[in-house]
Amino acid sequence: MSTFLDLGLQEPINRALTDLGYEKPTVIQEKAIPQIISSTEDLKAFAQTGTGKTAAFSLPILELIDQTNVNTQAIILSPTRELAVQIGKNIEDFSKYLPNLKVATVYGGANIEEQIRKLKKGVQIVVGTPGRTVDLIKRRALKLGNVQWLVLDEADEMLNMGFKEELDQVLEATPDSKQTLLFSATFPREVEAIAKNYMTNPVEITSGQKNQGSDNVSHEYYLVTERTRYPALKRVADLNPDIYGIVFCRTRRETQEVANNLIKDGYNADALHGDLSQAQRDSVMEKFRQKNIQILVATDVAARGLDVNNLTHVINHKLPDQIENYNHRSGRTGRAGNKGISIALVTKKEQGKLRPIERIIKKEFIHTPVPSGKEICQNQLFHLIDKVHNTEVNTDQIEGFLPGIYEKLEDLTREELIQKFVSLEFNTFLSYYENAADLNNLSSKDNSRGRSSSENMTRFFINLGRKDRLNPAKLIGLINDQNIGDKIEIGAIDILDTFSFFEIDKNFEKETLDAFATNDPDFNGRSVNIEITKTDRGNGGGRKPRRSGGGNFSGRGRRSGDRNDKPTDSKKSFGRRRSENSTSRRSDNKPAAGFGRKRRRD
Ligand code: AMP
Repeated sequence: MSTFLDLGLQEPINRALTDLGYEKPTVIQEKAIPQIISSTEDLKAFAQTGTGKTAAFSLPILELIDQTNVNTQAIILSPTRELAVQIGKNIEDFSKYLPNLKVATVYGGANIEEQIRKLKKGVQIVVGTPGRTVDLIKRRALKLGNVQWLVLDEADEMLNMGFKEELDQVLEATPDSKQTLLFSATFPREVEAIAKNYMTNPVEITSGQKNQGSDNVSHEYYLVTERTRYPALKRVADLNPDIYGIVFCRTRRETQEVANNLIKDGYNADALHGDLSQAQRDSVMEKFRQKNIQILVATDVAARGLDVNNLTHVINHKLPDQIENYNHRSGRTGRAGNKGISIALVTKKEQGKLRPIERIIKKEFIHTPVPSGKEICQNQLFHLIDKVHNTEVNTDQIEGFLPGIYEKLEDLTREELIQKFVSLEFNTFLSYYENAADLNNLSSKDNSRGRSSSENMTRFFINLGRKDRLNPAKLIGLINDQNIGDKIEIGAIDILDTFSFFEIDKNFEKETLDAFATNDPDFNGRSVNIEITKTDRGNGGGRKPRRSGGGNFSGRGRRSGDRNDKPTDSKKSFGRRRSENSTSRRSDNKPAAGFGRKRRRD
């Protein structure tokens, strides 16, 4: 196994790498560094994100660059601002013992005058997004006539994002003598075309098999319906109290909706997408890096360049339109030697998309059942017990209180004490999942207005039935006539002889009750009454889990969205104690000690 010195790097660079904790080169670094140092041939590298590719192209450039010359000698193009900033920062870290080395990062959305001033002072390496780089070339602030190295990082993504024209313009501004280094996780036709048009007999290297996903990632899929997609996502989070992951969505709207739902349901989540301002995006990313956010819901583009190594999960809320993007997504986990899980939530209809992905990642998806309520409770319980085991006791701090506490608890046996402690922590969760539906049962007419019930719906009783000439269409008409809300979702409807049941989006529970009470409608001369059902209909249909939340639970907080939650006093005070705790922690801007705990957002 070679060292960085063996690869031909000088001592100051090696020292900086040691400071960063890089002990030995990664596969792509072992291949790329000596190749670039020893040869001026162009290079085409198949490299996933997370393989150490930034160092693979930056380190040999730092080794060879002329620090005494302030001309721009290397230009590195990256698809997003976030990735550009990350590369710029990495290069600063790698060159910390190279005193005359200057790097500038240029990207849109930031003050161009400042960037021009920095360029004018002279920088040997420029990292830029394609649009801003072209802009600076046109303004003659960026001169690429002396460039020796041109790096196209994540070339596939730059082309995906429509930067073909800008790439052409930058390439045209550089001398023919330069060495072009193209890094891409996938090589679709468009990338091959760039390689063909702008590179001369490039040497090819790969960090593994072409397009193959990381060995450290296992790929699972959960079969869901449109209605169970979100509840299944929540179960993944609930099953893994220490989850630290990204939920990928296809559109900004889907991203925001999923994030809003998770936040409302008490998860430690936030959204990252292009509709947010740059400042908002920076803030979300920083909180995620600091682990103040546990679940990041993101679009493919926005998650680019997020340099986080220890993600436990990547969840595909919906599979990407372009199958290559699956690789990018799953490559966010299983990095730097860690293991990771990539989960795809797919409907029966979407199942056909898995095969082409399997061909690319050269691995099979494992069909995994959506976790049951029991499994989740068990996992959470053992997680808590482990936490109790691992808690350090600071005797000095609690000594004064102990005699009083022992006295208060002396009538309880060890077993009783354990039972009470577990119940205190778990009653909320147990009751939430007590009657949880089996989300693997797809036979119910889950996509339609059928019999299914879901965790997002509230089931109502209505005092009208077939004998009143009620049918589903008339019931929907009656509900709509109450003007409860534009976007109200009506779920399963069961029409019986003298009464019926219907489901409404749980967020409209109160509005529904209020509207019927205020409007006091009649139906064929009969006064209408509705009530929330507290028990399941006994006809074998799906069950709505009863929720009695209020107490926090590892990984989730109080469910503010659950308006029918009526916590008991003990749960209430328990929940409050925790949220005060997390709020005060937040004020000094430190991550909560209990990582899974929900923390209030700004
Ligand atoms: P990249 O593929 O360049 O995005 O790198 C992925 C992550 O691996 C980054 O956080 C790097 O800091 C880290 N990394 C890169 N090379 C090494 C190495 N040789 N040893 C340890 N960590 C590394």
